[in-house]
Amino acid sequence: MSFIDGVRAEVRSLPAYNAGLSSDLVRTRYGVSHIAKLGSNENPRGASALVLAHLAKWTSAASLALYPDPSCSVLRAKIAEKLDAAPEQLLFGNGSEDLLAIAAHTFLAPGDEVVTVVPSFGLHIIYPQSVGAKVITVPMRADLEFDVDALIAAISPNTRMLIVSNPSNPVGCAMNASEMRRLLSAVSPNTLVLWDEAYFEYAAGEAGYPDSLAVLRESGLPWLLLRTFSKAYGLAGLRVGYGVASTPELAGLMERIRTPFNINQIAQEAAAVAFDDQSHVMASVEGTRVEREQMRAALEALGITPARSLANFLFFDCGEDAAALAARMLADGVIVKPWREAGYETCMRVSTGSAADNAMFIESYKRRRAAA
Ligand SMILES: *Cc1c(COP(=O)(O)O)cnc(C)c1O
Repeated sequence: MSFIDGVRAEVRSLPAYNAGLSSDLVRTRYGVSHIAKLGSNENPRGASALVLAHLAKWTSAASLALYPDPSCSVLRAKIAEKLDAAPEQLLFGNGSEDLLAIAAHTFLAPGDEVVTVVPSFGLHIIYPQSVGAKVITVPMRADLEFDVDALIAAISPNTRMLIVSNPSNPVGCAMNASEMRRLLSAVSPNTLVLWDEAYFEYAAGEAGYPDSLAVLRESGLPWLLLRTFSKAYGLAGLRVGYGVASTPELAGLMERIRTPFNINQIAQEAAAVAFDDQSHVMASVEGTRVEREQMRAALEALGITPARSLANFLFFDCGEDAAALAARMLADGVIVKPWREAGYETCMRVSTGSAADNAMFIESYKRRRAAA
């Protein structure tokens, strides 16, 4: 038996995360000068100007030689105050994906049962599987809304973790407060509710979007709410996500699993400055809403019906092999995310980019689709 054969079976059978292509690779391979990078839900406006000004002070060699603050105290105090949480309830991750991994390693054991949805954010399945958990996936309804009844039917007192992204990535739809309450009232106190709000800032002002922190608090369940600086704050490259846990005790268990210096000092400072510049977030969110709905109208004019979206992307059925179509669109310098999960292979997700990049996407889509 080789060394590799001795590696845990759950690790050897894991799928690779589909992280999408980089702009540089597409530029080199296809010889296109401008890339419309609409596969990763990044903020086309980028980071706040205040963040860029702050980063300019990181110029001395000595400042990079020191370890970062292991507890992210400045950022922790700001977020705790805003959310009216105890600082000890907060957790920080090298992106919220880090917190998903930490939660899986802290709370799941081989054979444990996890319930989530499909189509899903890949890591909601991959990290639980990496520690040997069994993941049950509940499909969205045919109208691409959460199937709350099916989720309630899938959970049981044996469920160790329920993972939901609200708004959904990749679909964009969201549960409202009464749906969320109905779901949580069926959850056992033996289940951790992992509520991923990566797109919170985009959805917060939309009609019907729940105050999930309030709903989680009133549930009496163990829960972990995740948010990130990668999306509306435009800091995906710096890797900062945060979590709020129902109790300091729950957060403390995760603290033992995380690496001590998981948020670098530049990222901590940039996130703190970004958190204070809510006007940049608001401008990004408002611009995105306008551009997303323009893109929806352009797709509808082509006979396509994207799912409802409270986030910075649209998900739709293109009626053909989405991976093949997305591969043809690369030749135009357009990167989108074709869906790979069973039952959704004719669907793609396109991020809301700049108006120019969105127009490039529509032009490429028209030129490259099978019907054209
Ligand atoms: C983008 C995304 C994340 C990961 O964000 P990072 O903070 O960049 O790691 C987590 N969950 C969902 C649903 C996402 O879409």
